[in-house]
Amino acid sequence: MKRALLKGPRDLVVEEVTDPAAGPGEVLVRVSACDICRSDVHTYTGIHPFVIYPVVPGHEFSGTIESVGAGVETELVGARVSVEPSFYCGVCRQCLSGRDNICANLRVIGFQAPGAMCELLTVPANRIHLLVRRAIEPADFITHRIPLENIEDAYRLLLDPDRNTFKVLIEPGARDAE
Ligand SMILES: [Zn+2]
Ligand SMILES: [Zn+2]
Repeated sequence: MKRALLKGPRDLVVEEVTDPAAGPGEVLVRVSACDICRSDVHTYTGIHPFVIYPVVPGHEFSGTIESVGAGVETELVGARVSVEPSFYCGVCRQCLSGRDNICANLRVIGFQAPGAMCELLTVPANRIHLLVRRAIEPADFITHRIPLENIEDAYRLLLDPDRNTFKVLIEPGARDAE
């Protein structure tokens, strides 16, 4: 497969490497879209403080499950997914106190773990989210302020690979304009 490897700041190469395979508890995702967010720009220019080079960048992406590893439901093959990019250890003090977002051993796809600017990527199966195509139109979300009861729809929209770069802040208490 092809992947983009950032060997260091402003030193990006596209190279051919062996296809990865899903290990136990993992799925293999064929990446269909991966956006570039400001963190990626900071990673590229070398001002992101937590990047470990060399790294394959890209942490906001979606794709289709190509295969699954041992212990993962085979029905997932073919499913369209997006991926939560943070991997926490589950055993450190922060994780055990329910604050896995500040896990002492946190690894994030595209920063400390291999990212999605590649054709195939393995991720833990518990990090995937299934996608539903075009749950709502983006204009509805912006102009009519989708109410929080419909947060699932809004979430699916935000994760739609066709609109992968489309981001909107969801404000608590937002109400439908109608
Ligand atoms: Zn980002
Ligand atoms: Zn932890």
